[in-house]
Parts: sequence; C-alpha cells; structure tokens
Amino acid sequence: MPQPVSATVETVPVPNGGDAADDAAVWLHPTDASMSTIIGTDKQGGLAVYDLGGSQLHYYEVGNINNVDLRYNFRLGSETVTLVTASNRSTDSIGIYRVDPQTRGLMDVAAREISTSPEPYGLCMYHSPVSGTYYVITTTGEGDVRQWELSETAGGKVDATEVRSFDAGGVTEGCAADDQLGHLYIGEEDEAIWKYGAEPSSGAARTRVDAVGAGRLVADVEGLTLYYAGTGGNGYLLASSQGNDTFVVYDRAGDNGYVATFEIADGVVDRVSGTDGIDVTNAALGDLFPYGAFVAQDNTNDDGNQNFKFVPWEAIAGSGSPLLIDTGWDPRTVGR
Ligand code: CA
Ligand code: CA
Ligand code: CA
Ligand code: CA
Ligand code: CA
Ligand code: CA
Repeated sequence: MPQPVSATVETVPVPNGGDAADDAAVWLHPTDASMSTIIGTDKQGGLAVYDLGGSQLHYYEVGNINNVDLRYNFRLGSETVTLVTASNRSTDSIGIYRVDPQTRGLMDVAAREISTSPEPYGLCMYHSPVSGTYYVITTTGEGDVRQWELSETAGGKVDATEVRSFDAGGVTEGCAADDQLGHLYIGEEDEAIWKYGAEPSSGAARTRVDAVGAGRLVADVEGLTLYYAGTGGNGYLLASSQGNDTFVVYDRAGDNGYVATFEIADGVVDRVSGTDGIDVTNAALGDLFPYGAFVAQDNTNDDGNQNFKFVPWEAIAGSGSPLLIDTGWDPRTVGR
C-alpha cells in the first residue's frame, strides 16, 4: 500500500482550463530561502511563477509550455545566473530564460529561436560534473531524444547547439539528469524508466530502472526528478506513476533499488491524481517547508483549473519512512 501523505499548500489554478498544468521546477532564492519560487507550466498557454504560499507572482503568455527545468551558476556576462529552459509546443522550440532575483520573474535570454523538430515534449537539464558544461535534453512523442549544449553568445544571450540524438523507443516525456553521477533518466511512458549516460559522448546504451507493469509503475510513467542528499550519491530518483496516482521512489546510487511508494491524499488541500510533472528539493525553504518540499501537478483540482500541490518533505520522509531528510547540503552546488 502506498504511504499516504498530504499537501499543505496548493497554487492558484493555472489560467487555462482542461489538461493545462504540467511540470514544475523549484528555484532557490540566493539569500532568503522563504523567497524561493515554483516555476510551473501551463501547456495551453504559458509559464507561471508562484511563491511558496501558492500565489502567482508572474505569468508569461509565451506559448504552450510543456516541461520546465533549471540550473544555477551559469556565467552570463559579468553575472552568475539561474538558467530556466522550457519546451514550447506552440513554436516547436526551446525557451531559455534567466531568473531575476529582484522580481523573481523570468527574462528571455535566448540568442534566437531554438527550433527543434519534431515537436518537443519533455525537457530536462544537465550540468556536467566532468566539463562544467550546461545541457538541455528534449524528448518527443516519437522517442526522439536530443541533447543541446548551452553557451553564452557575444551579445550576452544564450544559444543551444545540438550535440547528441538517439531513439529511446515509444512516447518519451519525463526526464531528469543526475549532475553528480552523470546519469540521464528517461521515462518511456507505457514501457519503463530508462537510465542512460548524460554526457554527449554516452551513446544510446541503457539499463532499465523499472518496467511498467512490474508491480510499481502504472502507465504513464510521467515526471521524473532527483532528491540530492549530500555528495556521496545518497538520495532518490522519484517518478510519477500516473495510472495509479502514486509516486515511486528509487535509490539514486547503484542499481536504483526500489525504496518506497507514496500517494498524496486529501488533507487541508485536495488529493493529487493523474500527475504529470514533479520536482523536489532537499533545501530548507523557510517556515513553510523547513525540510524541503515535493511539488506535484494535480490533474483534478477541487476548486478550479488544474494546479500544483506542495508537500513538506518531512511528511514523505518522516517517521516510519525509509527515506532520508538532508537539508545540510546546498543543491545549487551540484555539477560543479
Ligand atoms: Ca495531464
Ligand atoms: Ca521539470
Ligand atoms: Ca505524457
Ligand atoms: Ca506531461
Ligand atoms: Ca485533486
Ligand atoms: Ca484545490
């Protein structure tokens, strides 16, 4: 039986109705953790930024944004910035933004329209611990995976150059890269979670982390994310098992052994079902989430359009759970 936990905060509904909210990324504020944000996609029209209380700070009508991810400490001109990238299915391109720490808003820093064909679907980022290079990985409905190297242009913008592509089989969306161990996880929605190398030279060799139908995952495999607990490979790979409204947790290290399954049940916030994207952080986020937080898209919000739910990490990793709590390590230093 999945362990039941509850969300304590939900965001305001996304602007568009129907299946609209999809993926999220937690951004850690550089000096005040309570000012951290959740960047969430509305795949019917744009990209939103929420505070930790779930209020919408910003909304950008930039197109049908499906997935979003971010990485810290990218050198841009004289500054060190957080890069946010997103798959845009209106323009079939990769959006590239930076976070403005003053407003907590997003600024478009793409050097040009980064077109990708066929239409991009999933997206995640990788900051190589080997080279320090930043990458974007895009997936598609046809299993076409591409890896893009990000680089600063002379004009202080960011460009992307394709450096790798391979075929992962059927419909692929969710992905997550491990910036310490160099792994790239890809969800083939009705088949499996696959593990590849994340370096551009890694080729198409892969191992299966878990199979749909083997007892834990029920199609679709949707969002994937990583919980980092220190530098030794501790922590977890988390997956949304959309078909049975659960979240499956595996070890980050070794052969990704199965650890636990949980569900987000009714509490002060309505239950979570049919989840697409997820994200998690081990970092303390102030009074509301002093042990970090897990973020999940909710397919059916009881009081409006779809939205995102926030669960305190200690509700998932608390007493009786095999999961660790580790706020003692700064995830912004990953990949360096
Ligand atoms: Ca959906
Ligand atoms: Ca994401
Ligand atoms: Ca999907
Ligand atoms: Ca999705
Ligand atoms: Ca719900
Ligand atoms: Ca609600």
